[in-house]
Amino acid sequence: MGGKTKWYGAALFRFRPVEFEADPDYGLLGWPFGYEELKPYYDEATELLRITTFQNEPQLQALLDKITTAEPGWKLHPLPLGLSHDIVNHPEEAKHFDGFASPSGLKSDSERNLIDHIRDKPNFTLLAGTPVAELIARRAIPARSSASNATTARPTRQIRSCSPPAP
Ligand SMILES: Cc1cc2nc3c(=O)[nH]c(=O)nc-3n(C[C@H](O)[C@H](O)[C@H](O)COP(=O)(O)OP(=O)(O)OC[C@H]3O[C@@H](n4cnc5c(N)ncnc54)[C@H](O)[C@@H]3O)c2cc1C
Repeated sequence: MGGKTKWYGAALFRFRPVEFEADPDYGLLGWPFGYEELKPYYDEATELLRITTFQNEPQLQALLDKITTAEPGWKLHPLPLGLSHDIVNHPEEAKHFDGFASPSGLKSDSERNLIDHIRDKPNFTLLAGTPVAELIARRAIPARSSASNATTARPTRQIRSCSPPAP
């Protein structure tokens, strides 16, 4: 609802498939599932958070071209950002979207992109100013685990409140 999600830098990366794998050289265990398990959720989040990319500024692009020409091992990837393209028309906000909230709503955040979608649902109530004491499981739903291919019951969670007191 708020907190760091209002102030973050809007860079919204996915883990790469290789990052789910074990790396014995560094004593790192693999994840119990791979990228494919998360992909549908990444795709949904990409849509909800309107993740997009921007063209590099000419000076930055010239620098990057120099680096990749000198060392072809470096590969360029656009930065996935939860930012409206309209931000280029708001120079003040464009200068400091990282570390500041966007008063014009140009940055994707949990309030605008997630809560606003469900705010009016009859089964959703936002209890502002109420500290969360605990998350209560309401009913069990089957969840598939690709690691074991087994179906296990995991409780769904009901979020009773997710907002700090208003200042
Ligand atoms: C300056 C900055 C830049 C960042 N940039 C990036 C970036 O570019 N990309 C990226 O992926 N991440 C970035 N991050 C990290 C990212 O912001 C956080 O990981 C993310 O916002 C966490 O989201 P959250 O919903 O878990 O928590 P939050 O957004 O922090 O929300 C948690 C909320 O719960 C409230 N709360 C806590 N306890 C209770 C309670 N008991 N009862 C009621 N309410 C409670 C808190 O007050 C807060 O409002 C950045 C962080 C900072 C500070």
